[in-house]
Formats: sequence, structure tokens, C-alpha cells
Amino acid sequence: MSEGKTRIAVPGEKLGVEEEFIPGEGVYVEEGKLYSSITGALVVDPKSKKVGVSPSTKVAVPEVGDIVEGVVVGPMREDSTVVEILRIKRKRSLKGVFTGILHVSQAAKGYVDTIFDAVGLNDWVLAKVVTDWPPYQLSTADDELGVIYATCPKCGGELILKRGRLFCNRDKTFERRKVSIHYLLKEGSYVGKDSKRG
Ligand SMILES: [Zn+2]
Repeated sequence: MSEGKTRIAVPGEKLGVEEEFIPGEGVYVEEGKLYSSITGALVVDPKSKKVGVSPSTKVAVPEVGDIVEGVVVGPMREDSTVVEILRIKRKRSLKGVFTGILHVSQAAKGYVDTIFDAVGLNDWVLAKVVTDWPPYQLSTADDELGVIYATCPKCGGELILKRGRLFCNRDKTFERRKVSIHYLLKEGSYVGKDSKRG
């Protein structure tokens, strides 16, 4: 785990199993599984295999209705994927990373076949929290929600919003996404080396 990217555990969050880890501070065991009993920073000692949660006093946790910003970290499954929640809008002191799940049924207002039609790996997304417990279930269905920044899976270039869809200027291909109205790179406002005006 890298510095400055503390994972925050919340009460009742599953942290692992007894075969893997020894419970430390702020952790309880139930039916062989380790859970956090408090809100705080996750501390894992790889040598002793001890997992603990260090209490922190001022940690904002996601709540139902919160709009969060995060990045799709995968794994990408047909029906869902994992989003690392990095920021909660209008809330102070989110000092760590929370785990969210985006299910395909919550990805858009209409029917979406698979999660691959809604988000891609490493996409930045705006999402709404729909459950109060971890891993937090997220929704990207509203117009303001969805992908706000994405790169091309083929060339790595930035995708721009063109006629409501994401487009790679280099490959001349469209990528399927549930795009937010707040998508950062819009055709016309984008000044890339391949872009043409008018
Ligand atoms: Zn490309």
C-alpha cells in the first residue's frame, strides 16, 4: 500500500479471513472472518500478518445520497466493477480511500448489457452512494453522473466527448461509456494536437 493513500475501514467491513490474518486493534472475528469494529485507517503488517484499524477522529464516511468522485480499479466483471472512492463532494476530511461497487443495474437509466458498456478500467467517475454500508453500492444513472475522464484502451490518448459519445482522435473510434454531463474534455473546448476546428 502506497504512502498517502490510506484505506479507510468502517464498522462491519470485512477485512479478511482468519487463515490469512491475525486480528489486531479495532478488529473482531466472526465465523472465521475479520471485521472492523471502528472507523479508521487500515493497518496491515505483512510480517506478522496482523491486520488492525487505527481509530481516526475526523474521518468523513460515505453516506446515502453523497456524490463521490472515484476511479474504476476493477476487476471488471460482466455485471459489476470496483470503484475506489477518493473524494466526497461537499464534505471535508476524507483522508483515505473507500471501496465502492458499481453494479450494471445502477449504471444508467436505461438497460445496460454489461458493465463494459458503462465504464472502463481507470476511468474517473462521478457516482451517487446508494447504501450506507461497505462496500458502498454506487449509481451513475443520473445525467450529472458517470464517466468524467477516460483514456483510450488502444492508444492511451485522452477521449473527448463528441456528439454525446467518447471519441479517440487518433484511432477514430468511439468508446462506449455512460458519460456524465460534467465530462472534462469536450469537442471544441479540447485543444489536442490532432483536433481540428470547425
Ligand atoms: Zn486511441
